[in-house]
Amino acid sequence: MKKNYLLAPGPVQIPPEILLEMARPIIHHRTPEFEKRFKDVQDLLKELFQTNNPVITFSSSGTGAMEAAIVNTHSPGDQVLVVENGKFSERLTLISKAYGLDAHVLSVPSGEAVDPQKIKATLAENPQFSSVMLEYSETSTGTMNDIEAISKIVSASNALLIVDAITALGVVNIPCDKWKLDVVIGGSQKSLMLPPGLSFLWLSEKAWAKALKSTLPKFYFDIHEERKALEKNTTAWTPAISLINGLYVALDMMSSFGWKNLFQKNQQLMEAVHNGVSALGLKLFSKSPSVSVTAVCVPEGLDGNILVDKLKDEQGITIAGGQSELKGKIFRIGTLGWIDDGDILVFFGALEKVLLQMGYSFTPGSSLKAVQEALLKNA
Ligand SMILES: *Cc1c(COP(=O)(O)O)cnc(C)c1O
Repeated sequence: MKKNYLLAPGPVQIPPEILLEMARPIIHHRTPEFEKRFKDVQDLLKELFQTNNPVITFSSSGTGAMEAAIVNTHSPGDQVLVVENGKFSERLTLISKAYGLDAHVLSVPSGEAVDPQKIKATLAENPQFSSVMLEYSETSTGTMNDIEAISKIVSASNALLIVDAITALGVVNIPCDKWKLDVVIGGSQKSLMLPPGLSFLWLSEKAWAKALKSTLPKFYFDIHEERKALEKNTTAWTPAISLINGLYVALDMMSSFGWKNLFQKNQQLMEAVHNGVSALGLKLFSKSPSVSVTAVCVPEGLDGNILVDKLKDEQGITIAGGQSELKGKIFRIGTLGWIDDGDILVFFGALEKVLLQMGYSFTPGSSLKAVQEALLKNA
């Protein structure tokens, strides 16, 4: 009889309209019907990325587009700068190294955003770097980097700015063309209200020009094949047809709601979560909190793994714990995609129950009051 809520920073809850669309009988992809649908998806993806350039859709989880970003814009031995502040940015280094790139790491303490001036200084000393790679929203620590400020620095250099925006696209405003970003990576199961299985890649003119000269090996993720196919409103290989159908409905819902309204709603939900956290005397882990995922420090003396398990097993609420050295030390709640005021209230109601059981003391209802006050302020 338990009701389940998925409040992790991905995968996320999926609206019934999208689930139903994906349940429709499959159509063949080499048909005018699919091409019409894929053209509509393209137009909506261009709204999401705020661009006139094509957006490539791969049938893969987000890591596939991370790999595609790297293999399509580099050649063997290229020197790259990776800004590491958590598990996902580490993955950018691991992929770079797997392809024989000379990856230099600019290490930032966990839970902190990179100081854009550090990137500026590093690039000034190392004009040979062919790219700067980093996370928009580092999901493992709930931290956002100041991509607008960084884009001003990197766009004035020869290097490409490669941004993993998997938990930022559709959450915050990302004008790819206007900010002169170079490569932007997206994924379906985070902010786009879809199951895992699609990833996205956008490139600037500067990045497309570099891609023409790239000699790293690639086949499935070759963006030139995809660009040719896009001109005919299709994909190079068999697409995940059902997911593309779901994507159409998801993007249409977001676009109809209004992108600005969506970004504002996400900001307000984050503020409500912050209010609830501080009312319980808990601390945010990040010094530069992400809008899509809030990482909270587990209070001294409590085991965060038990907290996450109790929320799931007894309250039906799935959130995420910490990864690697943060295991047991933080818990993370996602507020991206199809989340509303009610979800946040349900979460804090359940969190209070679990914290009380674990012997943490506070005034029951205090976080609910604080969340409600934040939500009413914006109503
Ligand atoms: C989820 C996520 C990814 C991709 O992970 P997959 O498991 O391959 O989908 C990459 N970057 C960030 C920031 C993420 O949150």
